[in-house]
Amino acid sequence: MISVVIPIYNEESLLGELVKRTITALQHTGQDFELLFVDDGSTDNSMDLLLQLHTIDKRIKIMSLSRNFGHQAAYTAGIDYAQGEYLVLMDGDLQDPPELIPQMFTLLNSGSFDIVNGYRKANTSRFTRNIYTRIFHQLFKRLSAMEDIEHIGNFSMLNKAATHALRTLTEKSRYLPGLRHFIGFRKTSISYQREKRGSGCSMSTRQLFTLACDAIFSFSKLPLKFCLIMGIIGIITSFLAGIYILLSKTLALSPLGWSSTLTSIFFLGSIQLIFLGILGEYVFRIYRESQNRPIYFVREFHTDQKKIKRHEL
Ligand code: UDP
Ligand code: MG
Repeated sequence: MISVVIPIYNEESLLGELVKRTITALQHTGQDFELLFVDDGSTDNSMDLLLQLHTIDKRIKIMSLSRNFGHQAAYTAGIDYAQGEYLVLMDGDLQDPPELIPQMFTLLNSGSFDIVNGYRKANTSRFTRNIYTRIFHQLFKRLSAMEDIEHIGNFSMLNKAATHALRTLTEKSRYLPGLRHFIGFRKTSISYQREKRGSGCSMSTRQLFTLACDAIFSFSKLPLKFCLIMGIIGIITSFLAGIYILLSKTLALSPLGWSSTLTSIFFLGSIQLIFLGILGEYVFRIYRESQNRPIYFVREFHTDQKKIKRHEL
């Protein structure tokens, strides 16, 4: 069976077409399937529409989270409860074309690969969004040494072994493309043109920023190294400045003014604050892990099974 996990947050206008296109694509694989929708606390009619679709077709299953936890948490919930041998992760806004699923399945079924990623050919996002994502991708690529990161998102298909490995990663800061990269396995990709969002709205800048921080601080210790290197540069600079001051005193050159003193105090003060902030990000992540709060809570399930099973590790 193929499980397609789709997080949904206020996507009422797209649900009908999404279900139709996904089911048609899945039928081409010739396999049994389930569409596991994870309602991430939608405030529009998405949940009612999903319930209607569930009464018509029992292969459409719904998990409704207790509030909006963000799409990485929603994906995690779906991954934990998907029952199929194969797992598809796909956004619910039709930016990831479901028509690619049969090709992905053929590649996995050939036995030569464990993970098939969707490879976005070009970025069609809004101009401002493009700037944010470009900066993030360039930074993340350098910090994490993950290639192709600007082309690979959540859209992917995994076999049983890769899915099991992904489930064992229970960290609270979640960036799925990074986690999927971390587990290894034999990967390939299929390129596609990522369409613009039809309707509904994309993640907010705040959500994007949180996701970018989670990605950077969970996959790299380079920001900490950066603090260390800057500290060393600071020591060398102040040493050189010390020599200069000594020379200017002894050779009776013009004395240093208060403005340069003030500037260096401000400069060093702000550098220290930035470094404290970077350290704080790591400390916060340690704190969050030690709190060990669940990544999501499920309010209700709608499936044909009596009991939907969470995969125990
Ligand atoms: N989504 C979600 N919770 C959220 C925000 C988004 O489950 O808090 C879902 C959304 O419905 C969509 C997917 O996650 O199916 C991707 O969201 P979006 O299109 O906003 O991401 P983008 O394409 O902008 O990266
Ligand atoms: Mg989208």
